[in-house]
Amino acid sequence: MTADHAQDRMLAVRNPATGAVLDQVHDHSAEQAAAIVDAAAAGFRSWRGTTPRQRSEVLMAAFHGMREQAQRLRDLIVAENGKSQADAAAEVSYAAEFFRWYAEEAVRSPGDYTEAPAGGVRNVVTRHPVGIAVLITPWNFPAAMATRKIGPALAAGCAVLLKPASETPLTAFAIAEILTEAGVPEGVVQVAASSSASRVVTAWLADDRVRKLSFTGSTGVGRRLLAQCAERVVNTSMELGGNAPFIVTSGADIDAAVDGAMLAKFRNGGQACTAANRFYIHQDVLGEFTEKFGARIAQLRVGDPASGADIGPMITEQAAQEIRGLIRRATEQGAVIAAQAHLPEGATGAFLAPTLLTGVPLDAEILREEIFGPVAPVVAWTDLDAVIELANAAEVGLSAYVYAGKLQTAMKIAERLEAGMVGINRGIVSDPSAPFGGVKQAGIGREGGDFGMEEFTEVQYLSVDWS
Ligand code: NAP
Repeated sequence: MTADHAQDRMLAVRNPATGAVLDQVHDHSAEQAAAIVDAAAAGFRSWRGTTPRQRSEVLMAAFHGMREQAQRLRDLIVAENGKSQADAAAEVSYAAEFFRWYAEEAVRSPGDYTEAPAGGVRNVVTRHPVGIAVLITPWNFPAAMATRKIGPALAAGCAVLLKPASETPLTAFAIAEILTEAGVPEGVVQVAASSSASRVVTAWLADDRVRKLSFTGSTGVGRRLLAQCAERVVNTSMELGGNAPFIVTSGADIDAAVDGAMLAKFRNGGQACTAANRFYIHQDVLGEFTEKFGARIAQLRVGDPASGADIGPMITEQAAQEIRGLIRRATEQGAVIAAQAHLPEGATGAFLAPTLLTGVPLDAEILREEIFGPVAPVVAWTDLDAVIELANAAEVGLSAYVYAGKLQTAMKIAERLEAGMVGINRGIVSDPSAPFGGVKQAGIGREGGDFGMEEFTEVQYLSVDWS
């Protein structure tokens, strides 16, 4: 297809709860993607020349813009992603906080000035924007995954090319509009949706002026992008998949653990990289935990989130189908469906009943795979060393959760877990002021906190003759 024909191509965005087409966005061709790097280069030249205070004020205005448009953004996320209204509202608030946090960080760029040990020389260490950054985001947090990258990139003085997930580009375009209204100059933030992610991203990564890739998504795609970035040694940050263990000890407050489990498992219908994926419950409290957890799961209201349901559809019917397969194979191996919520009458295949599985065998596939849905497999334990070994037996180490009576016990367990983030006596770890990220194949680098801005800077050291 020629570039002219490609310009006519559109990508339909659907509501996963109803299947209705919400809107159409431009489906970028490789040529169109390559062309917008010119605008990004011009944008970068002007943006890197602004003062930290100017960048800070623009980001603060964007924070207020998101707050003013919170309702519109919430409804957009509900419509294109299918999460509950409460989850979407929480995401908008979390996403906006990245603009506020990096408005504050923009004016605190660190540096260093030291005397070289041999004397006669001063080492001056400064930071510069890394350059034009490609940002790739997933569909599960269409606002927060974008602002968690755009905020620090703009604070550091970079221009960005954002490729949102093909299922949820509308939120990304709305955020770009808010940034423009806040004063971001033309070319500095550009969003390109596409029915072929690799077509657009390959065109960008082939351009010498692109110096950074910040990716959030699955470990499989992350691996491929790392290989692609190796060709031009592009600076990379990777936020990849999770498989979080949720450990409850015999001394834990079970009511608090159940509250935490509900949040860690069912936020976003279980479609979160930090979602608790495997529940390791001490044998002494197994009965009480599963009874209370099961009762809460059975009460979850499944349905169209626009009508106030707690749990909306999975992002696609195929995603729900894959999770049904995991449940089926687990039960064939001996797991028992101990509790399940009701599906509304006439629910399409994208809806999945929240499910509690007990007696899950240790070799079950469902304990190895990232479920990415509202299914909670429970395993009983008695030996602490053995359960820590099980928790660490995953190729990814993003987040983990520990509930224990004594804080010291929880922290001792947490320190032995191979996870970038551990929720201790709480079921959520995300915070704009904290370093978000994983170990092993869960990623490279951190987002949030002061670490997040470092990812968009290069260190330069000036060696100054002082004699
Ligand atoms: P995905 O399939 O890896 O897609 C993520 C993004 O990458 C989308 O924008 C996608 O575009 C794009 N993409 C896919 N193939 C590509 C390629 N060959 N080249 C360039 N870009 C490509 O992941 P997902 O299913 O959307 O998201 C779920 C995964 O993300 C889970 O594993 C979850 O744990 C992880 N996640 C991690 C974090 C974290 O912070 N660590 C946060 C949220 C989610 P298309 O939509 O066009 O395919």
